[in-house]
Amino acid sequence: MKDLAKISIISMSIILVAIAGCTTQKSAEERTVEIHNEVLTVDTHIDWPIQQFLNPDFNPSIRNTLGKWDSGQWDLVRMQEGGLDAVFMSIFTIQRERTDEGHTKAKEIALQQIESTQKMIADNPDIAEIALTPEDAYRLEKAGKRAIFMGMENGYPLAQDLSNIKLFFDLGIRYITLTHSKNNDLGDSSTDKQQEWGGLSPFGEEVVQEMNLLGMMVDISHVHDETFWDVIKLTKAPVIASHSSARAIRNVPRNMSDEMLKAIKENGGVVQVCFLDNFIKKMEQSPERKAALEQLKEERAAWVRGELSQVEIEKFREKYWQIEQQYPKNRPTLAEAIDHLDHMVEVMGIEHVGIGSDFDGGGGLVGFDDVSQMPNITQELLARGYTKEEIRQLWGGNVMRVFNEVIQVATELQKLEKAQK
Ligand SMILES: [Zn+2]
Repeated sequence: MKDLAKISIISMSIILVAIAGCTTQKSAEERTVEIHNEVLTVDTHIDWPIQQFLNPDFNPSIRNTLGKWDSGQWDLVRMQEGGLDAVFMSIFTIQRERTDEGHTKAKEIALQQIESTQKMIADNPDIAEIALTPEDAYRLEKAGKRAIFMGMENGYPLAQDLSNIKLFFDLGIRYITLTHSKNNDLGDSSTDKQQEWGGLSPFGEEVVQEMNLLGMMVDISHVHDETFWDVIKLTKAPVIASHSSARAIRNVPRNMSDEMLKAIKENGGVVQVCFLDNFIKKMEQSPERKAALEQLKEERAAWVRGELSQVEIEKFREKYWQIEQQYPKNRPTLAEAIDHLDHMVEVMGIEHVGIGSDFDGGGGLVGFDDVSQMPNITQELLARGYTKEEIRQLWGGNVMRVFNEVIQVATELQKLEKAQK
């Protein structure tokens, strides 16, 4: 009898421990959902407009399922599902010839992407709206709607004409990433073969000043280190890096050194961790994958140069997708990206870090394949001991604070300019 009582006490304790275990696990999940829904979540870099430009058949109003070459990583349904409140759609143009013809074409492409973004909103008035200010984002979040901001990646469509900044501002563009992967008329890129300007060009200096005056955020992702330092010296408003990670962890020119991170902290700006595999960790790929990609090298180069016809582009995509299926890429995990975030917080403080996935532009990791998986970030942050308030700052509070300061600086500058006239 005694033994039986003992056994039942033991089994009762096991049951109680098991229940306690379940409750803790459940509450962690519940806490993730609760916090993720409560804070304003902002992703400062998604390249949907260029995907839409390349594949006009893509329907952003339905749920596209991952696993096809044209499934994309963003649509409105998955944005809702992933509890993402606001996004900056990147109006992106690849750097081509800096001739009159090249500039005209780039401006045309940018205008088309803006139009397709506006059309996407017009088709879904109950789900999303174009946002122009931080106030808009918070208002739309309360209304349960998605806030769609626009940023411009690459100053190439400015076409050496300062008045185009105002034109794009009036169309809703709220940041410009000064360069992309090659030098342009604004300055040197972090990934071109050699420097051309030694940092910002004289036109680039005027662009930064004009952006300060209009209340547009200056985005220093992609720029050469010297361009970065020129911007930091010149700008009157805090800057953003819309999608860049930490060079101390993964030493590539697209990531930010600790000195740069500290300078952005000083400047009051924010760096948005980029979730592109090669910026997070160097991964070895299978010889089969390497060999298959090597065979596509020429075609890829021709595609980048814009030399392929639509039929050839589709063929190229099909071959590329086959390789992805047959020899999938080894990728880092979401947790390894959050290591970058931890490092940035350590160097800069919690007020200067945020999220810029680069989905549809190369972003994506194990456990972070599309916009529906945004809560995985919140889960990882919670598991690492970040508080609700810290998560609120990281997810959107910081970048919206910077955006507000940029608007305030512009208001002051405009007043000053008026007074001088
Ligand atoms: Zn980019």
